[in-house]
Amino acid sequence: MKKNILIVPGDGIGQEVTAVGKRVLDTIADKFGHQFSYDEALIGHVAIEATGNPLPDESLAKMKQSDAVLFGAVGHPKYDNDPSAKVRPEQGLLKMRKELGLYANLRPIKLFDELLGASSIKPEILSGADILFFRELTGDIYFGEKGRENNGDTAYDMAKYSRFEVERIARKAFEAARTRRKKLCSVDKANVLETSRLWREVVQAVAKDYPDVEVEHQFVDATAMLLIKDPRRFDVVVTANLFGDILTDEASQIAGSMGMLASASIGDGTGVYEPIHGSAHDITGKGIANPLASILSAALLLDIAFNMKPESETVIRAVDKVLKSGYRTRDIADAQTEPGKILGTAAMGDEVVKHLN
Ligand code: NAD
Repeated sequence: MKKNILIVPGDGIGQEVTAVGKRVLDTIADKFGHQFSYDEALIGHVAIEATGNPLPDESLAKMKQSDAVLFGAVGHPKYDNDPSAKVRPEQGLLKMRKELGLYANLRPIKLFDELLGASSIKPEILSGADILFFRELTGDIYFGEKGRENNGDTAYDMAKYSRFEVERIARKAFEAARTRRKKLCSVDKANVLETSRLWREVVQAVAKDYPDVEVEHQFVDATAMLLIKDPRRFDVVVTANLFGDILTDEASQIAGSMGMLASASIGDGTGVYEPIHGSAHDITGKGIANPLASILSAALLLDIAFNMKPESETVIRAVDKVLKSGYRTRDIADAQTEPGKILGTAAMGDEVVKHLN
């Protein structure tokens, strides 16, 4: 199969980990007889430095023309420490999501057995947890009207959802639940927020089309607690943009490290496949970033964008074998890890490539 993949490394460790993700895609193409062609585009701080724009038109056009995007991360300490900066790397990310219509962010949270010890949660609570999050991505408080009044001493951000926005992500989540354990948890704050009351109303209406899926509604505060207390109770979770942002970072601890978690942002056109972690400037350039989230993002890309299930499973199996062989990057190493088996970014990539069989 012929496919065009756009590599968008972005900032910080994004550059280091997407290089490894691309290597894995290349190896898969060779092994399965596909022709993958690649192009690259700028986003984030590197794009601001080069063009003054966090998402140049050329990058957006390339994204729209590609079959899938393998994305790194955006962000730079310069902006984190200057909230007043008018042009910011994250604007590129938000614009990309909006322009590509990426309304659903899928985050599978599944712990590889070998990493049970790497999580801060007790193994007996964690073992067997397997959650698929659907975070809404183009609405909510992130995109509503925002501003200052009262001479700048009062600030506001408006949260807004429309029925169609909730319905389309709810349907995606119900469809996914059908292929899994047939349980869906919709998370909101319907006791307080009007947007959440609409959210719940729409999910209840959509649920009528999926009588085979067991539905529960949880408040976001209770969900934050239940994720740690009993993560195995969840199968598919669907929630709004802000709640999803926070809950999926919390849930990343179930997988042991931010460096292990992949995500897919999908809509009606090109999808974007990316680790959930950021640009991690504290470790940038040191060659120690964990590339497994980017590799697992490549696996999601193969599965969701190209419908290449065996290829995707080959990648996940290779990651599993490498972990079973005792190899770790520093973020997922523990007291039992042999010092010789702690690998840097490129060496971890080499091991995964070796095990792609
Ligand atoms: P971060 O995810 O970059 O890092 C959090 C911690 O996890 C750091 O200690 C980092 O070293 C570690 N970490 C993250 N990924 C790792 C990996 N692959 N291997 C090993 N360790 C890893 O989050 P942050 O520090 O809050 O943010 C840094 C920058 O990234 C900020 O500018 C932020 O805005 C941006 N950010 C971007 C995205 C994105 O592009 N999707 C997401 C989150 C944060």
